[in-house]
Amino acid sequence: MTHTTVHAYAAPAPKAPLERTTIVRRELGAHDILIEVKYAGICHSDIHTARAEWGEGGHFPIVPGHEIAGVVAEVGSAVTRYAPGDRVGVGCFVDSCRECENCRAGLQQYCTGELGNVGTYGATGRDGQVTQGGYSTHLVADENYVLRIPESIPLDAAAPLLCAGITLYSPLAHWKAGPGKKVAVVGLGGLGHMGVKIAHAMGAEVTVLSQSLRKKEDGLRLGADHYHATSDPATFEELAGTFDLILSTVSAELDLNAYFGLLRTDGTFVQLGLPEHPLPVAAFALVTQRKSFAGSMIGGIPETQEMLDFCGEHGIASDIELIRADQINEAYERVLASDVRYRFVIDAATI
Ligand code: NAP
Ligand code: ZN
Ligand code: ZN
Repeated sequence: MTHTTVHAYAAPAPKAPLERTTIVRRELGAHDILIEVKYAGICHSDIHTARAEWGEGGHFPIVPGHEIAGVVAEVGSAVTRYAPGDRVGVGCFVDSCRECENCRAGLQQYCTGELGNVGTYGATGRDGQVTQGGYSTHLVADENYVLRIPESIPLDAAAPLLCAGITLYSPLAHWKAGPGKKVAVVGLGGLGHMGVKIAHAMGAEVTVLSQSLRKKEDGLRLGADHYHATSDPATFEELAGTFDLILSTVSAELDLNAYFGLLRTDGTFVQLGLPEHPLPVAAFALVTQRKSFAGSMIGGIPETQEMLDFCGEHGIASDIELIRADQINEAYERVLASDVRYRFVIDAATI
């Protein structure tokens, strides 16, 4: 690799608009791959991070982006899994300790080793350098943390699978969504719309719980069997005791206890959204019907590949709005206003 300086879009400081800049990518190590980024999705986590909503500090300037789809441009001397021209993706982490029980089980996202999972941006890697994400023209990543994108999925619509897709696939698989199971997806945004598609493909009966009925037609087209507005108190009466599994993708604080009421006995509510503030839990809302309140974070490397292959087989991809890099700040505002249909994806050629 000759050029290590590449173009990118970065947030220079917390809450400041993103702007075009250059960053340095490390030289290719033996197991590294140089990826020409073609597309990068905008995840709400990018926005939480760029606005420092998950605590002070952080590494600014920061280049967000962990829904990355591109093509292999060059490989290191010891790379065996990929060759130039391959269609590949990178998700939310680019390394982990590789030795702890979770890493050995393919659950790298839950790495308990000292290194932990190394986030695709804003984390300190093995080499002591701070990682920078996918809103850039090129990325260097270890081949063991790179995924293969099936030929049947267009690269732009594949990018969001690397975070939104796996974040919904993993809990749906873990809690065994399938025929005979009633699954609710709360929030029809980037994560939520992937949840509807994947749960439907797995054979579950799917309900969308959205703030309003504005996106009802879309929800049904994406594969939902039912669609209800959470702004209508009647929804909580009508659906009381209904669901085996509720997946909440809501990025803001939610009245959890009202949603626990929608679970049937032994049902599970899985928190996927990562709001800024804690959420109060009323013991009675869980205890009286042996209900569970759980969390889940993205997925490991093997499961992410499994999800991509599943999507390839079932003709599933993200519904996207392709934007130029100079529209990133505007796109952030639209995501914050729940005005996303259903994922913004940056065309990296415009960076
Ligand atoms: P998104 O596209 O903005 O979708 C979130 C949806 O939540 C919105 O479209 C909206 O759906 C609903 N919502 C927003 N504000 C709400 C409010 N005040 N009350 C009720 N509903 C509200 O965001 P995303 O990219 O899908 O990410 C969602 C959350 O998951 C973020 O917090 C993100 O950081 C987190 N996340 C977690 C993981 C993980 O591994 N657990 C991975 C990725 C992202 P309606 O308009 O349909 O109501
Ligand atoms: Zn994400
Ligand atoms: Zn580990």
